[in-house]
Amino acid sequence: MPEHEYDIVIVGSGAGGGTVARELAPLCREGVRIAVLEWGPRLRPEELTGRELEMAGRLYFDGGGTMTRDRSLTVAAARTYGGSTAVYTGTSLHVPRRVVEAWGVPGLEWEDVQRRSERYAGENGVHLLPEELINENNTLFVEGCRRLGWPVRQFPLNLRGCRGGGVCNLGCPNGAKQGTHVVQLPAAEAEGVEVITNARVESLGDRQCRVVVSNPGFGEPSPWEEGEHRVRAKRIVVAAGGVRSPALLLHSGFGEELPALGRWITLHPALILVAEHARPITNIVGHPKSFYCEAFRGFLLETCMYFPFTTAKNLIGFGPEHSALMHRFDRLQQILVLVMDPARGENRITVDADGNPVIAYTLSPEVLDSFHSAMKAATAIFLAAGARRVHVPAGERFFVEAGEEGLLDELIPRRHVRPGRLSVSSAHPMGGCRMGGDPASSVTDGWGRVHGVPWLYVADASLFPACSEVNPYLTVMALAGRVAEAVRNDHGEVNAT
Ligand SMILES: Cc1cc2nc3c(=O)[nH]c(=O)nc-3n(C[C@H](O)[C@H](O)[C@H](O)COP(=O)(O)OP(=O)(O)OC[C@H]3O[C@@H](n4cnc5c(N)ncnc54)[C@H](O)[C@@H]3O)c2cc1C
Repeated sequence: MPEHEYDIVIVGSGAGGGTVARELAPLCREGVRIAVLEWGPRLRPEELTGRELEMAGRLYFDGGGTMTRDRSLTVAAARTYGGSTAVYTGTSLHVPRRVVEAWGVPGLEWEDVQRRSERYAGENGVHLLPEELINENNTLFVEGCRRLGWPVRQFPLNLRGCRGGGVCNLGCPNGAKQGTHVVQLPAAEAEGVEVITNARVESLGDRQCRVVVSNPGFGEPSPWEEGEHRVRAKRIVVAAGGVRSPALLLHSGFGEELPALGRWITLHPALILVAEHARPITNIVGHPKSFYCEAFRGFLLETCMYFPFTTAKNLIGFGPEHSALMHRFDRLQQILVLVMDPARGENRITVDADGNPVIAYTLSPEVLDSFHSAMKAATAIFLAAGARRVHVPAGERFFVEAGEEGLLDELIPRRHVRPGRLSVSSAHPMGGCRMGGDPASSVTDGWGRVHGVPWLYVADASLFPACSEVNPYLTVMALAGRVAEAVRNDHGEVNAT
């Protein structure tokens, strides 16, 4: 079996791993050897076709639909150079002070998180889109909210040279989105960090990992030969994402000493709502997500526009009404509901015998209450924006029609809001390796150092002790920046002694 030696190995190249690689890259000038091991491929530009099903298969784990154990929701996470930053929409929000204070992690101050996320927002080109680039799917949302007197805000986005292709979640063919695949990883590689793609870390042992290299038949071939490899490193930073970092650590046996490992996950459950206008609107062309409304307790409403397959799967029901709505795709307006789910110990990642993650997550009554309120609020916004009719998944009928604004409580009863009746998804898995002071209730300290394992760190969304409440990537980067600082300090201290 080929063997490789590094000083620092980073598992995963997404928002967390890419940031750690960039922050540690200057150490390469002093001869420190650093590698990123990334399960997914590095796609060639011509392979980003924007075709929905093709790209889902090339970019995502399980085509973007990893199911929870009870099959009540699907989780999307990317498996590619840049991780989920290659498919994210680029909305760039800062975590509120109240969230970090409620996390209560010793040594973690909101001011530090804020300072770091502002730095990454600058590095990744975050700005507000000019008015001429905003399509009607977005402006109608603004109009609807304003007519109802609900405050609406514009999303800062991390784009450079957006041409409005609308396929952000299928990988931007124009390279406009400023994820780690565009900003941090190329900069780290230029300084000497090696990125080994198509390299799945199977398990971790004492300062080493077992890696399997396998080329999927698209993308650049891995720089390493196919087959098993052993990699030794003085320090290993796990940044495999909110589902796969806890799974990798559990499969590697760390759960025995760390009872919180895999637990307290939150998913930010999401629901896509669809309305039909009487005329065609600009929807699929242009950036999909430019505005949000945070007027409510327990959920956020955001603009969104999904592709035909994803849209069809999110409508409840079959037959003529479903088909008629899909045939009017050019008239559809969409709103995304994001529910802030509480962290609970019983919502957890476990692993099967092969080390694959099993996501045990129950949609709680509080989450279903939030979906219920959100469906009524979104329906009100659509109708205030002039929609002809709205498809409400848990409605009494397939459509709520214009003019029925006063009947929403009757037409959208709480009793229909239940698993199986809603097509719920998640793109924001968080927790499972939560930070904290106590090894009995957390996995790492406030700098991502795994309790009791001096060579091991975590640097991704799994660090969150509870939901971030807002779209999370800037917070992941800020926390990963702290982990890189801890690794650098620890490495320097050991070398100095
Ligand atoms: C469709 C979509 C849209 C989104 N839009 C937004 C948005 O607009 N704004 C926002 O703030 N957030 C958004 N997010 C969320 C954001 O992308 C994530 O929160 C963030 O990328 C998480 O960073 P991470 O490092 O934890 O994981 P990831 O970025 O997912 O990276 C994990 C990496 O680890 C690799 N990996 C996993 N297991 C292994 C292993 N065993 N060996 C080697 N490599 C491994 C994976 O292939 C992946 O590349 C979106 C996510 C999705 C899926």
